[in-house]
Amino acid sequence: MTTTLITGANKGLGHETARRLTEAGHTVLVGARDPRRGRAAAERIGACFLPLDVTGEESVLAAAERVREDFGHLDVLVNNAGITGPRKEAAELTADDIRKLYDTNVFGAVRVTRAFLPLLRAGESPTVVNVSSGLGSLAIAAEPERFESLLPVYYPSLGYNSSKAALNMITVQYAKAFPEITFNAVDPGWTATDLNDHRGVQTVEEGAEVIVRMATLGGDGPTGGFFGNAGPVPW
Ligand code: NDP
Repeated sequence: MTTTLITGANKGLGHETARRLTEAGHTVLVGARDPRRGRAAAERIGACFLPLDVTGEESVLAAAERVREDFGHLDVLVNNAGITGPRKEAAELTADDIRKLYDTNVFGAVRVTRAFLPLLRAGESPTVVNVSSGLGSLAIAAEPERFESLLPVYYPSLGYNSSKAALNMITVQYAKAFPEITFNAVDPGWTATDLNDHRGVQTVEEGAEVIVRMATLGGDGPTGGFFGNAGPVPW
């Protein structure tokens, strides 16, 4: 059984992943930036609450210190926290809008991964799952018709899609830099959550499937890959 930290686990896909792993007997740390909602979400599923805002260096370092004190190591990190940013056309989206979006989706994952690296290295079969999106796939963006079965609708979005493309490359580079840690990116598929005003076609139970699968590889699987529920996703 593992000790697993999931960022942004107070709702949506992160919460469902936390619920499933807790149910399976793993020790789960529900990372959340809002203490009230985070604590309530953790209590709902019998998990532990860990205050964690992925955009705050101090918050991330304090979370890592708390995990070091309480557990001494971390087996699995799920970088799930994500936002879509303002709904603006490409011409309206400013560099500052994109910077804020990247601060969560890209730099947040880097901040948390970096802070937890020593704890991951102290565990057995350390695993990192970066929750990306098919919208971050350059292959799908170039030929959306060819990959319709993987991604039913391709929404162009300058900020969100490029943030997930960056997260994909970051996953590959971490996997190369740390062969002793399993790093994979996952595409949960279009899932009904607050992120998309519940317009997604899958339930969170369906969406969390691939996150749970890649979080429980136990060192026994691929690294540096991009996976969805139906298998590998083209980069
Ligand atoms: P939700 O909006 O339901 O959940 C997002 C979670 O991220 C919330 O818990 C939110 O916390 C948290 N979060 C946002 N910013 C921060 C921050 N700075 N620090 C800590 N936590 C933060 O969305 P989903 O469950 O749909 O999204 C989860 C992940 O899945 C995201 O990375 C998303 O991009 C990805 N994804 C989602 C898809 C979908 O169709 N839903 C498809 C493909 C990928 P709070 O409640 O405080 O805002």
